[in-house]
Amino acid sequence: MFIDRAKIQVKAGDGGNGMSSFRREKFVPKGGPSGGDGGRGGDVVLIVDNNYNTLIDFRYKRKFVAPTGVHGQSKNMHGKAGEHLFVPVPPGTLVKDAESGEILADLTEVGQQAVVAKGGRGGRGNARFVNSMQRAPQFAEKGEPGAERQLFLELKLLADVGLVGYPSVGKSSIISKVSAAKPEIASYHFTTLTPVLGVVRLDDGCSFVLADIPGLIEGAHSGAGLGHDFLRHVERTKIMIHVLDASGLEGRDPLEDFYAINKELALYSDKLAKRQQIIVANKLDLPEAQENYLRLQAHFAKEGYEIYPVSAATGEGLQQVMQRAWQLLQAYREEPEVVDEVKVYEAKEEILFTISRADDGAFVVSGKDIERLVAMTNFDNEDGLRRFQRIWRNLEIEEALQEKGIQEGDTVRIRDMEFEYRQHG
Ligand code: GDP
Ligand code: MG
Repeated sequence: MFIDRAKIQVKAGDGGNGMSSFRREKFVPKGGPSGGDGGRGGDVVLIVDNNYNTLIDFRYKRKFVAPTGVHGQSKNMHGKAGEHLFVPVPPGTLVKDAESGEILADLTEVGQQAVVAKGGRGGRGNARFVNSMQRAPQFAEKGEPGAERQLFLELKLLADVGLVGYPSVGKSSIISKVSAAKPEIASYHFTTLTPVLGVVRLDDGCSFVLADIPGLIEGAHSGAGLGHDFLRHVERTKIMIHVLDASGLEGRDPLEDFYAINKELALYSDKLAKRQQIIVANKLDLPEAQENYLRLQAHFAKEGYEIYPVSAATGEGLQQVMQRAWQLLQAYREEPEVVDEVKVYEAKEEILFTISRADDGAFVVSGKDIERLVAMTNFDNEDGLRRFQRIWRNLEIEEALQEKGIQEGDTVRIRDMEFEYRQHG
C-alpha cells in the first residue's frame, strides 16, 4: 500500500572492438602490428538523489542504455571508453534483479551508488598479442557485450511530514489542496481508511512527502483496528502538522482535541510525543472559527506552540504552513545521523560453464565466460580461431563434453555459434 514500484531495463555499453592493423612506414617494408584496443563500455549506475521522492519518473522512462566504447584504431590508437550512465533514484530504493529476485542494492544514503550493469571490456588490438612465437598476429578481439538486465525498483514511501488530528477536522481536504493526492473527503467520521501520501511541491521546486494519517483516535495505541499500521507510519515522520477544527462545529472543543491526540501519540511512543508540531487552525472561512481562533492563538502562544490559521476550503494560509514544514524539515535533517560507509555493489563474475542437451540433441555449453569468449572472437580469422581453441582447451570443455557422452559429428552450441564435434588425434 505504501510501496511504489517500477520495472526498468538497463543495458551497459558494449566494449569497442580491438583493431588489427600494421604500421606502414617509409623504408619499412613490413611494420609491426599496431592495432589499438577498443574502449570499454559505460556502466549503468544508480545513484541516490535527494531531489526524488517517488519512482513516478520511471513510469515514463523505463530503458537506460549506457554508451558503447569506441573501436580501436590503427597506429596504436585506443578507443575512448563509453561514459557511465548515472540514473538518479530516491533514497530508500531497493533494487532487485527482476529475474532472480535477488536484492542487488539497498540504496538509502544520498550519493550512494550501485553499478547495476557493468560495461563490456574493450577488445584488445592485435598489437597486444605479440609474443616470441607470434610476431605478426592478424587478429584482434571484439569488444565484450555490456551487461543487460531487468530490475525491480521498490520504494517504501516514507512520509516526511504527517497530518494528525481528529476525524473531520480537514486533513484530507488539506492534503488534496497541497498535493496531487486524491483522498476521499466527507463530513462523516472515519472516511479515510488508509493513509494517503502526497508529494508537496513548493514554489521554489523543493518537495517533501506529506501523509494524511487517519485513525488516530482513542484506543488506536492498543493496536485496535487499523491503529498500529497507521501509527507505524506516523512514527517515521519527522514533523507533524496537527490539524484542529477551529469552528468547533462538530460539537467538540479544539483545545480538548489537541491534548487528547497528543496523549494518544505519547501512549504509543515517546519519540512521537517529542516530534515538533505545527498547529493548524482550520476552517477559518467560517465565522465561528474566526472567533475561536483568537482564543486558541492566545492559549498556544503561552504553551510555546506555533499556530497557523488556514482554510482548506479556500486554500488560504496553506502555503505558509507547507513552507514552515519544509523549513523545520531542513533543520531536522541537519541533525547528525550515523551513516555507514557508502557501499558500492558490483555484479558478481561467474567462472563456471554448464553443459546441457537441447531438444534437437545438440550439446549446449553455457556460462558467462565461455559465452563472452564466443562473442569476442572473430571466427573468420585464423589466428582468432586458434586463440579460441587454446582457451577452449584450457577450460577443459572437451573433457566435460566427453563425460556427457559426446560423439563424433554431434553438434555443439554456444550462444549463436554452432559447430560439429570432431575428436583430435
Ligand atoms: P478529515 O477527516 O480530517 O480528513 O476531514 P475532511 O477533509 O474529510 O473534512 C471533513 C469535512 O470538513 C468535509 O465536509 C470538508 O468539506 C469540511 N472542511 C474541511 N476543511 C474545511 C474548511 O477549511 N472550511 C470548511 N468550511 N469546511 C471544511
Ligand atoms: Mg480524511
